[in-house]
Amino acid sequence: MTQSSWGRRALQHARILTESTPGRGSATRHEAQAAVYVHTQLQRMGYEVQQQPFIGLRSIWFFLAMVFGFASLGHIGGPFLAYSLGAWSAWGVRAALFGFAFYLMWRKFTFRRFPLRASLPQGPSQNVIAVAPARETARRKVVVSAHLDSHRAVIWFANDTLTRLYGLLSPVAVYGLLLAPAFYALALLSGLSAFSWAGAALGVLHFLGWFTGVTADLGRYSPGANDNASSVGVLLTLAERLRAEPLPDTEVWLVFTGCEETGGDGMTAFLRDNEDALREALFLDLEMCGIGDEIAYISAEGVVRARKIVPDLAARLEERGARPLSLAHLGAFTEMGAVWEQGLRGACLLSKPAGGHLIPEWHRLTDTADKLQPEALQRMHAFVWDLL
Ligand SMILES: [Zn+2]
Repeated sequence: MTQSSWGRRALQHARILTESTPGRGSATRHEAQAAVYVHTQLQRMGYEVQQQPFIGLRSIWFFLAMVFGFASLGHIGGPFLAYSLGAWSAWGVRAALFGFAFYLMWRKFTFRRFPLRASLPQGPSQNVIAVAPARETARRKVVVSAHLDSHRAVIWFANDTLTRLYGLLSPVAVYGLLLAPAFYALALLSGLSAFSWAGAALGVLHFLGWFTGVTADLGRYSPGANDNASSVGVLLTLAERLRAEPLPDTEVWLVFTGCEETGGDGMTAFLRDNEDALREALFLDLEMCGIGDEIAYISAEGVVRARKIVPDLAARLEERGARPLSLAHLGAFTEMGAVWEQGLRGACLLSKPAGGHLIPEWHRLTDTADKLQPEALQRMHAFVWDLL
């Protein structure tokens, strides 16, 4: 295989995945079919392949509907509660509702178990795992991951303006869960209606969150070519190359995860079972590798609490030409969030057009294979190979 044909090869995998299993919703039949494709490819290359089953969340939007549902109750329940309980007792009940909603967000987006999870739709999902051994004794371990599933094409991602608005409003909605009871308390203490209005404005936003949550799953899934068949394709080419050219002293774990889009359940399940073996490992997560002329690494992310990449790893990536991109407090997350929350070392890598802040085709219906660029896939393949 010549150096430049890895990109074409990755494109071929991505195209097959996008066209044979379009819309690989988390914990759905199409996601399972994508896992079978990857499993078969790895087996053909000569790997011993392990399938890790787990029960994953089928929708992140139902979770958000639950959170913003509690918040909306807190907003609209005010007058009714005040009538029967009195002003401050009513405030206490509302504060408890907001507090519980924020607690759910906190648990979910720090990748921990959360109350009422059992009440949300879940289904069987899977990770596909293969290990490329070192040629001699393994002195280092690297885990390279890419998720198999694709997201619902929710209206907020339909065009650049809406996506920017989503990024802007997300932190207001999240921290609004704490601000709302504060505003209502200030309204009671000061008697100023401005505080009630500020609370009500957050109420509108929280209602919008609830409404998006309950209606999101009526739409179609994104075909998921760039997010994330592109990365699955690149990871398969890395797997193939590692068979032909094993690394002298580095063992590489190839991990294809399920249920990333609904909150990283696949990576969480993988870490739960393998964390001890991989305490010292370097994690590299591939996301949206297929469009753009530069490589970016996520410098910080976190929907509720921001976590940062370790500085020496960031420096190593920048030496090789990768640019930093922060996803902190933008209502976006990757599997690297779950890795960082466990105190492990790693970086999430993606492709993007130089100078742009938006990642092309993120969660859109137009995320189809014809938009993928073999040069971008090739660049990511070469970048990760160089790092390895
Ligand atoms: Zn993704």
